Amino acid sequence: MSKPAPIIKDLLEYLDPNPTREGLRATPQRYADFIKDFFDAPKLDLSVFPNEGYDEMIVQSNIAFYSVCEHHLLPFFGYGAVAYIPNKHIVGLSGLALTLENFGRGLQTQERLTTQVAEFLTDKLQPKGVGVILTARHLCMEMRGLKKPDTQTTTSCLKGLFKNNSSTRSEFLHIVG
Ligand SMILES: [Zn+2]
Repeated sequence: MSKPAPIIKDLLEYLDPNPTREGLRATPQRYADFIKDFFDAPKLDLSVFPNEGYDEMIVQSNIAFYSVCEHHLLPFFGYGAVAYIPNKHIVGLSGLALTLENFGRGLQTQERLTTQVAEFLTDKLQPKGVGVILTARHLCMEMRGLKKPDTQTTTSCLKGLFKNNSSTRSEFLHIVG
């Protein structure tokens, strides 16, 4: 990623009548540091282990995530639940949260983020099924546009047994509900 600080300086000149005042001096670099840190997600390298016979659902819920809406350049953030039923492989528990965090770091839509997490885990683990549910607040809905505070948007992506088997699906929804 090229150095964004000069561009942010231009933006401050556009936004503020007195862009050289003391309080703004370090802002371009601070914001550039944030952009580098947030948008340059490290490569997702999950530890995968052989499954020693576990054949029930693994559910991680209440995973906080942050992302930026690509339509409005404003944050959306919330909580997700990520679940799978293993086949031959399991992933380290932190891997589920890490996957959601990682795909959130970029310009996103909530729909794409949900799908990418489910597809990545399907690819990586070849499990019997994957379920992802995200619930988020979008500042583009709250600070602008409709101006509806506290609106929550929920998306889901279900694969394998989570999609095709109604008792798996309801067990998942019951656990995360
Ligand atoms: Zn938006």
